[in-house]
Amino acid sequence: MSDLKLCQGSKCHTYYTQDRFKGQKGSKTYQTRRRSSMYYGTGNFCSMQCYNDWADTFIDRAIDHFGRLTEPKHLTEDNAWIKDYDYNWRAEDNQQSNWRSINKITKEERPMTEQQYNDSNYTLNT
Ligand SMILES: [Zn+2]
Repeated sequence: MSDLKLCQGSKCHTYYTQDRFKGQKGSKTYQTRRRSSMYYGTGNFCSMQCYNDWADTFIDRAIDHFGRLTEPKHLTEDNAWIKDYDYNWRAEDNQQSNWRSINKITKEERPMTEQQYNDSNYTLNT
């Protein structure tokens, strides 16, 4: 059996749902949810509610810890490249590669290979 993870929501145990009510007969308590996988907050929370409870409590401290943005970031020609492909592209109908870099500022397109598309380190951004 796979390892179960605890929801990191600070108030998870305070929500009255049947699946949280656990324990020996006569001494059951509402408990933080345990799941093999969770969908919210990169797998740390059982629900958006629990994610928001955590954020309301800790987000200011987290931002201060990892560095609060103090001036706006800028998207320029140098870092506006994204990867793109056509969902309905069929090799037999096309001469060109399906995979490409597109610059969101200049609209320039440059072909790339499928391997480059799948390589998370490959980018034209500088
Ligand atoms: Zn939860």
